[in-house]
Amino acid sequence: MLVAVYDTKPYDRASLEPGAAGLPIEWRFLEFRLSAESAAAARGAKAVCAFVNDRIDRPCIEALAGEGVGHVALRCTGFNHVDLEAARAVGIRVTRVPGYSPYAVAEHAIALLLTLNRRTHRAFNRVRELNFSLSGLEGVDLHAKTAGIIGTGRIGRIAAQILRGFGMRLLAYDPFPDTAWAAAQGIEFVTLDQVLIASDVVSLHVPLTPETHHLIRSETLARMKRGAILINVSRGALVDTAAVIDALKTGQLGGVGLDVYEEEEGIFFEDLSGQILADDELARLLTFPNVLITAHQAFLTREALADIARTTLANLAAFAEGRPCLEGTGLSEAHGREP
Ligand code: NAD
Repeated sequence: MLVAVYDTKPYDRASLEPGAAGLPIEWRFLEFRLSAESAAAARGAKAVCAFVNDRIDRPCIEALAGEGVGHVALRCTGFNHVDLEAARAVGIRVTRVPGYSPYAVAEHAIALLLTLNRRTHRAFNRVRELNFSLSGLEGVDLHAKTAGIIGTGRIGRIAAQILRGFGMRLLAYDPFPDTAWAAAQGIEFVTLDQVLIASDVVSLHVPLTPETHHLIRSETLARMKRGAILINVSRGALVDTAAVIDALKTGQLGGVGLDVYEEEEGIFFEDLSGQILADDELARLLTFPNVLITAHQAFLTREALADIARTTLANLAAFAEGRPCLEGTGLSEAHGREP
């Protein structure tokens, strides 16, 4: 079975290719993203493999169906960029990778927090310029401070547990709280408002849904503790960027660590050095010394890439052989809350 792999990067190829040995799978690696306009490049393929910034809306799904594609295998967790209704209507199977290393993403969230707090991004640049001055590099002890975790699924829990290890007080909000886990870890479930009001650090670990879109906006930012640090490694549109910029300008936010950005499509994952950045909000964010942005790399560990390849390959092989998809990975039948 021929599989068209969109938005291929060298690390995708390196993790997918070896795993396919002995499986009925042939690859067509494409470097551009999947959209209605590029769906024709899947001609002859029975399945496509897609990533976070592919635009798999209704026109794209219909174009894929027209090319004879029967399976969209997402090599990511989030599926907010896929029109599942449209996929169901044309009978395209959609699968994702629900359970790859949550440590990869949670540890990256903590890396952003530690860097922002202790200014190691600034110290690194200074020392390379032989500037050994410490002024402006003061941080705080995280020990005994309060962290708020919004969304305690696979990734949020690991982030919470790591921060507990620093001796932080942990508050959490999730509409489906696992109270037994929280009690065992010394973590307190409270309301969203209480998390915002009481936390020195707020970290987002929720999927992007109509409910969570702009979860962080001017009203919720105003509820936060002055000078709090916001971390978002989940999805860009959880945060209203313009409101975050305002909160940084007034000092309401003390720092922001982002691995995702609302308008990241076409920017993140690309080498645009030497070009003119047309996105004014991203350009403004990059001027703040207390903003740290990485380009959607939280998943990028050897372990996570191996997990992603394993699940994606198992789903593609199941489709090729006419078997159901791996349990917990199917989306075309499931709906709403991520399973
Ligand atoms: P998960 O499904 O295990 O957990 C999500 C949690 O959010 C669930 O417990 C759910 O009940 C909760 N939730 C849903 N709506 C909520 C709301 N309105 N308020 C508070 N909590 C809510 O998902 P996960 O594996 O922990 O992943 C979380 C998100 O991280 C994914 O949806 C994805 O968008 C993002 N992610 C980013 C990267 C990256 O590389 N930056 C990698 C993987 C995942």
